[in-house]
Amino acid sequence: MEVSFLGVGEACDERYPNTSVLVRGEDKTVLLDCGFSVPCRFFSHVRDADSLDAVWISHFHGDHFFGIPQLLLRLFETGRKKPLYFIGQSGIEDLVLRAMDFAYPSFYKKFGYECRFVALEPGQTLNELGLCWQGAVNKHSQPDLALCLTMDHKRLYFSGDGCPTPQAKEMAQGCDLMIHEGFLLEGRIHGHGSVQGCLDFAREAAVKKLAIVHLQRDERRREEADLQRRLENVSFCQASLPVPDDVIVV
Ligand SMILES: [Zn+2]
Ligand SMILES: [Zn+2]
Repeated sequence: MEVSFLGVGEACDERYPNTSVLVRGEDKTVLLDCGFSVPCRFFSHVRDADSLDAVWISHFHGDHFFGIPQLLLRLFETGRKKPLYFIGQSGIEDLVLRAMDFAYPSFYKKFGYECRFVALEPGQTLNELGLCWQGAVNKHSQPDLALCLTMDHKRLYFSGDGCPTPQAKEMAQGCDLMIHEGFLLEGRIHGHGSVQGCLDFAREAAVKKLAIVHLQRDERRREEADLQRRLENVSFCQASLPVPDDVIVV
């Protein structure tokens, strides 16, 4: 499993695109979240746009799904024929189609490819596209599903936004890679995690690798160099603060 960071930023970071991750396995490619600033990053990474099989949406804040109209538009322009799956919490079909209709009214019906929407209920295990998808609710200002995706016998945990619940903590146990938002260095802010919280969670869940994303822009600018050094010295897992274009092989 090869994991490429298209973006690592929060909603309004002028330096880093919204957090979005491209996951490529032996024969499947999945995009995790697609905020406003992600589609251009996606098309700079992916030459064969037909290779994309599915888009996961953790929740419906703009920095996690408002890039979808542009993504779909360009897939239409490239002549895509292959169906594209959207997987996320219930309501995903309605919200994606409404976003598309706001951005480009009446385009959707012209598409030469089908969008297939699959809702994942918290606690459910779904087998779709030969991959295993599990979701658990996170504590966030809007309902957010943390994902555990199993691909090529490797398990990837992706938080979306928010702090882990007991169900999310159980789901994360022993994952090969955890990608988790840490909005602040430490302390608490409503509906978000912290870097220290990510480290505590990764240790508790005994994950092998941890990538921290979605750090608040001012904290990141001020603390980035120190934080990278601090994460290099973490002993219980391989921890990092990725930048765009970084790749982690699991
Ligand atoms: Zn966000
Ligand atoms: Zn959010």
